[in-house]
Amino acid sequence: MNFSVFALPEVFGPSWPKLAIIPNLMSTQIHILPENLANQIAAGEVVERPASVVKELIENSIDAAADEIFIDIEKGGKALVRVTDNGCGMSKDDAFLCLERHATSKVKSAEDLFALHTMGFRGEALPAIASVARLRLTTRAVDDEAGWQIYAEGGTVRQAETVGAPPGTVVEVRNLFFNTPGRRKFLRKDETEFSHIAENVTRLALSRPDIHFRLTHNGRTYLEAYRHNRLEERASALLGRNLFKDMLPVEAEAETGEMMVGLLGSPGLSRSATNYIYTYVNGRFVRDRVVQHAILDAYRTMLEKRRYPVAVLFIDMPPEMVDVNVHPTKHEVRFRNRQQVHDFITTTVRQRLQQVDLAGTKRPELSYESSAPTALPVVPNPLQRDYRERIQESLAAFNEKVDTVQASSPLVATIKGEAFRWSESAQSTAQMPDGWRLIGQYLNSYLLCQAGEDLVLIDQHAAHERIGFERLRKELEVNRIESQSLLFPLVLEVDHREASVLTTHLNNFARLGFEIDAFGGRSFTVKAVPQLLVDVDTERLVRDVAAELNEIGRAGSLDAEIERVLSVMACHAMVRANQALSQMEMQQLIVDLAAIDFGSCCPHGRPVMRRLSRRDVEKFFHRV
Ligand code: ADP
Ligand code: MG
Repeated sequence: MNFSVFALPEVFGPSWPKLAIIPNLMSTQIHILPENLANQIAAGEVVERPASVVKELIENSIDAAADEIFIDIEKGGKALVRVTDNGCGMSKDDAFLCLERHATSKVKSAEDLFALHTMGFRGEALPAIASVARLRLTTRAVDDEAGWQIYAEGGTVRQAETVGAPPGTVVEVRNLFFNTPGRRKFLRKDETEFSHIAENVTRLALSRPDIHFRLTHNGRTYLEAYRHNRLEERASALLGRNLFKDMLPVEAEAETGEMMVGLLGSPGLSRSATNYIYTYVNGRFVRDRVVQHAILDAYRTMLEKRRYPVAVLFIDMPPEMVDVNVHPTKHEVRFRNRQQVHDFITTTVRQRLQQVDLAGTKRPELSYESSAPTALPVVPNPLQRDYRERIQESLAAFNEKVDTVQASSPLVATIKGEAFRWSESAQSTAQMPDGWRLIGQYLNSYLLCQAGEDLVLIDQHAAHERIGFERLRKELEVNRIESQSLLFPLVLEVDHREASVLTTHLNNFARLGFEIDAFGGRSFTVKAVPQLLVDVDTERLVRDVAAELNEIGRAGSLDAEIERVLSVMACHAMVRANQALSQMEMQQLIVDLAAIDFGSCCPHGRPVMRRLSRRDVEKFFHRV
């Protein structure tokens, strides 16, 4: 690519100068906007916050064929955004020209617009950024002896000199919006602004495993992703190794021209929000409704309600099939044939997931080291396993252990006796409320009871959820939720978003019965969880609670939203529908339910029980 910058022909942009040659047509009020003001207006569109600066600068570095891009941030980007690359750099002339509006090296003619291979092309970003900040550009073209450094304030060049510099470009943007206080006011806390930056870096870095990215904040390295050929390595560096273990490579090509490569999360990896779906069209990150809908459609039968998959997908198609030039910052595209693209995505994703479903049952062990795509079985989601089965298994394992050492240790024998007595006493406490009688279980999902003369149906899942919820709420009321240490603390490696939520809400987690330590960087150790929830998938639990706390935000108080958080937690602990329960378990459920407000709903608002009076039943049979 030829990297000399020139001014775009006017067909590409609003043509202020053209107006200038028709003077005094009427006694007109129209006047030409000063260049700087025009840039500031453009900045209104392109530069929303520090994260947008970061995105534009990284895209320029990518376009300059850099394979090393370092991003240094201070104070959430309000004090400094610096992007350093080892790309092609700029000659002296280009260095000056690139701060001019509509100066770009990337598009020369209308035809070029349809076959874009670069991230940027409008020639708007640098002048727009420069107009609302203090910008220092240091650049040296590979073949030049020396580099150039240009310093501009609010878009006006104040200083320019030749300097010694390595090939490549450094753009430093300080004091963003220093000259537009109205916009500066809208910036959020440093942490929030930084998390937007980290998200943008993640999106871009996922799409280019061949580029070494490093992101620092206030001098600390926050994210580092070394050059790799494989998307898998990049995804695991950015999204966490735990996550990557359950990702399944996908690759497909349609006769109609669409192609897809990427990684699909197993259904067990599901999240409570859609923001773990990273999609790209022709190399650009998009948040497109058609694409998103198609993916969710493919996963639909495999995920519970309100659960969303994890995915990193690159969809490519010939440029004439899609318009990526819809809006400079909105992540939307326009497909020429939406239905066709939608079907391609849904079919490909669904087929791939189904293949694994079969492979997964055959080969449950996990071996992503053997990199053939089909050798990636999905790990069964522990939560989908029968709850009781797990408890029984661990009890059996416990008793077995006890048996093996029993002969030599009288103490262990006592422990075993203790455990046994515990379950006995649990049985004896299951006293049904007055006038209640258990009839049985229907479809492994509903309990049937007689209460006085009424026929009562109880949704066992909803009931369990309600009970857990009330228990947590009561514990929280008296002080804080009873917690229990994990035998093996869980080391969680999370992505930047979760890291920032966890850090912000560590005290709230503590109130909720968790003990979580920041381990440094994006690692955390979970040492204890609420007692009620020791048996559940800890990782998923912590992530879901984090997502919920994130909704509350940084300023919001936990108390106002406590019900929502508790209901998410309760949801984890509970027996699912479709589970055979023993007589004793059913009775215990009814007893527990009776201890709380009997007529209530599950925390999601679904009814827990329905009553049919004798009269209702008799009416069925035309007896009244
Ligand atoms: P666009 O990217 O749309 O062309 P920009 O305002 O972002 O517009 O950049 C203007 C021009 O400056 C680019 O076309 C490119 O030629 C040059 N440029 C910007 N950043 C870099 C960089 N990091 N390395 C080399 N050239 C750059
Ligand atoms: Mg650009």
